[in-house]
Amino acid sequence: MEIALIILSALLLIALAVSVIVAWLALSSVKAERLRFDELSESVFDYKMEWTEDLSELKFGKNLEKLLFSCGITPDKNYIRSVFGTDIERAEGGVSLCVNAVKKSGVISEYFSAGGLSGLIHWKSISLALSDGRIKVYSLGRDITDEILLRKANDQLRQQLLEEFENIKTATSNADAGIFSLVTEGSSVYIKTSARICALLGFENTDTIYLDQFLSLVKKEDILDVQRQFNLFLSGTNDSLFAEVSVKTITGVYHTYTIECKYNPGAVDYRYLRSGMMFDTTVSRLNREEAFKDSQRDTITGLYNRNGFMIEGEEYLSENKDKAGNIVLVCIQVVRLRKISMLFGIEVSDTLSRLYAETLERITGDHAVVGKVGVEDYALMFECGKEEDVENLLKKIGIVVENYCNNETLPAVLKEQSSFIAGACFYDGTDDISALYNKASVTLFSGARKPGRICCFYDMKIEKAVSGRDIVEHEIGEALKLGELELYYQPKISIKTGEIVGAEALMRWNHKTQGLIMPNEFIHVAEEMGIITKIDEWGMLQACIQNKMWQEKGYDPIKISVNMSQAQLYQTDVVASVKNALAESGIDPSCLEVELTETMAMIDIDRTVSILNSLKDLGVSISMDDFGTGYSSLSSLKILPIDLLKIDRSLVYDIETNYTARQITKAIVDMGKAMDLTILAEGVETEKQKELLRELGCDIVQGYLYSKPQPAAVIERMFLIPAMENKKSR
Ligand code: C2E
Ligand code: MG
Ligand code: MG
Repeated sequence: MEIALIILSALLLIALAVSVIVAWLALSSVKAERLRFDELSESVFDYKMEWTEDLSELKFGKNLEKLLFSCGITPDKNYIRSVFGTDIERAEGGVSLCVNAVKKSGVISEYFSAGGLSGLIHWKSISLALSDGRIKVYSLGRDITDEILLRKANDQLRQQLLEEFENIKTATSNADAGIFSLVTEGSSVYIKTSARICALLGFENTDTIYLDQFLSLVKKEDILDVQRQFNLFLSGTNDSLFAEVSVKTITGVYHTYTIECKYNPGAVDYRYLRSGMMFDTTVSRLNREEAFKDSQRDTITGLYNRNGFMIEGEEYLSENKDKAGNIVLVCIQVVRLRKISMLFGIEVSDTLSRLYAETLERITGDHAVVGKVGVEDYALMFECGKEEDVENLLKKIGIVVENYCNNETLPAVLKEQSSFIAGACFYDGTDDISALYNKASVTLFSGARKPGRICCFYDMKIEKAVSGRDIVEHEIGEALKLGELELYYQPKISIKTGEIVGAEALMRWNHKTQGLIMPNEFIHVAEEMGIITKIDEWGMLQACIQNKMWQEKGYDPIKISVNMSQAQLYQTDVVASVKNALAESGIDPSCLEVELTETMAMIDIDRTVSILNSLKDLGVSISMDDFGTGYSSLSSLKILPIDLLKIDRSLVYDIETNYTARQITKAIVDMGKAMDLTILAEGVETEKQKELLRELGCDIVQGYLYSKPQPAAVIERMFLIPAMENKKSR
């Protein structure tokens, strides 16, 4: 029994121990759960408190404890009160605090740390009834400091932007500018802008216009471009819109608006997703247009300047296409206007310029386009049927200007300086303004004007000359290399014997497409291009070689003369090149003559004298070409060491009919004779001229009466061979 009792009590003890162990185990698993719950709740929520309604039991989470310590706050019942119970002071503790916490779920408490950190905690609480009847509250807090700050900043920004929009709206409500936003709602697009702009466009008491309504007011010329701009912007192809658009206002007057609009993805209000400004730039556009117009005017006369004339002229042509054939463009050059300005001051030339401007405008009428296109140049375009009418109109202008210039009060210089010349071209319906202007201007300078006429008209001949000049400019440089240059010779005939005594070498250009080009068309171009010296050197050598060949063939020696250019005289060592030609050809210097003009010689008379003396020392003869056209001065004849005087063909031409020409020729011959010079007359075309020249005492004649300039072989056949045969037969 005793044993049974011992066993029983041992069993009871074991059972007790097992139950203790089981209870302990159960308790520790609850504790572990608890710990995990604490951890979890603190990671989901930042802070945690557990407290009973009477505040006899309090438990603070680790995070909260840390925070409160850092803020110098003791985690105790006062803290709980400070969070949930400040507004229920009188109902201290108990149910009221607990109810309050739960009721005020969402309460926000603030903290301030010693390190200057401040923050907000958002609390949520639940309450549970414990088995002993007490109520336990679980309060879980989330730190919402960053969130609140962000929200606050956003709110502030939003407020600020709205205020700004409001300010701009108010400011622009009475101005000619407004916020401009393009709003899409479903399929409709509308514009929000200032009520003032809306009213101006005919939409009262609103700040909204549908885009279609707006576009229907846009000027015809602008509409396509504007529509395109809007489409590109609205479709997102372009992220900004910039347009200058003329829109019809309620009064019927067009206003120009500059619209600048951007896509703003961060807009606080969807209506401002595409927003910017709209300005009324009518005035500045008008100013710009005015400034543009000013830039096209000549400041002295107020006429169009060259630029303006071209723009207006183009418009005039396009408006008058149907009148082709009856529209004429005239280029006028006031002779010596530039010189007047230099010699007598710009006031005098300005007065004359203005007079021309007024007269041209008055006489050509309202519909004409008149411009001052250069210092001395004017251009006119007007309707006119015939060349004769153009000439008459220009004559009228000439009379007005002449009468004005004869006014006693004006500087005497103007009296003889008021003349002008003109070149004109009729519009054929195909040319544009530049082509037409070029044709008229080329005509003016073509030198094709007939004596006694003011104006020269563009025709096929001038066209050929123009295209010829182009060819000359482009190809003269190559002509020598390509062997296209050739010397022709014109015989010089002794008036006494009728026999050939010499020949002048005259250059010709055998162009592959243009045929024979005369020296007057290419010599000056070669001079301008600086290649004349090469050509002349070549010519000199060629002429000497040719002469030598003739001599070797047994013909009587003749003198070959070559023309010297100004450049050859002054810019090259002409003495050296003559020496070279003589040496290379082996010709006797007495068979070579060099021709120069008086004008050329007078440029630097001392230098010319020295060069000519050197040439004479070589044994070469010198002749003065074209005498009677330049200064024709006795003193120059005295100084220059020349052998022969060539009377210009302009004097010879008139000698039969004009007494004065005959007298001048006589004076020249007498003067030359007195100086022991040989006298040659060039351009002799008739027997009568030759006879008169013989009577006057000329020694040699040269001209078409005997022969035009011809290739060497022709001269040989026509003159050298017959001369040799004559001699033999004598
Ligand atoms: P220039 O030296 O006074 O030559 C005389 C010009 O008058 C030549 O013109 C000749 O063909 C022309 N002539 C001769 N007799 C008559 C006539 O009876 N009636 C008419 N109407 N004309 C006549 P071309 O050959 O056209 O030469 C023109 C000018 O070109 C020459 O005038 C000369 O200054 C220049 N020139 C010609 N060849 C050369 C050259 O090789 N070098 C240079 N530097 N100038 C040259
Ligand atoms: Mg000559
Ligand atoms: Mg001559």
